[in-house]
Amino acid sequence: MINPGDTVDSKGKPIPFVFRWRSLVRVLLFETSVKAVALVAAEYADYDTGANCRPGNNALMRETSLGDRSVRNAWSVLRDAKMAERVHKGSSYKGESDVYQLHIPENWKGYPILGPNREAFTCQYCGGEFNPVGNCVIKGGRASAKFEKFLFCPAPRGANGRDADSCYRLWSERQANGGAAGLDAMPLVERFELFRKARDDDW
Ligand SMILES: [Zn+2]
Repeated sequence: MINPGDTVDSKGKPIPFVFRWRSLVRVLLFETSVKAVALVAAEYADYDTGANCRPGNNALMRETSLGDRSVRNAWSVLRDAKMAERVHKGSSYKGESDVYQLHIPENWKGYPILGPNREAFTCQYCGGEFNPVGNCVIKGGRASAKFEKFLFCPAPRGANGRDADSCYRLWSERQANGGAAGLDAMPLVERFELFRKARDDDW
């Protein structure tokens, strides 16, 4: 797989932008709908530069099987992630679509992404392996994620989360008993430290 940060291959040949974009989208721990929109939208962009991406939301809805809200939300996440820059706001009155310049953000390695080997993560409570669940929501125009889905095994099936002996709950109890901060009270830097431990596969 291409490293999204590489602009040339081992022979010094330029790597088309869209190849780099696809490899970034594949490792992003964003919601599936955001990844689907990102992958389909890139097919409309200039292959070498990611410029002039103008799919229109109706085409994206049809090609991703998503609804209007999910497509708009996906663009909002991609804009917040500095992966999409709206260079022209289309007017729905004139039937115009927004025009985007797609980007590989400079700090992409600091995003919640899989490691270069795309391996399973290690639960920070029980040490078991699990697949992190991509999730990303918009709160007040900012993208944020539930880190427990990146750090701990999923709650046991049928237990409905709250009362289950989920690794996240057990870890939270242990933190509280030791007077340590829970995940919500933890600064983002510390949450990312735990994230990198769970991933154990750095770029
Ligand atoms: Zn666990």
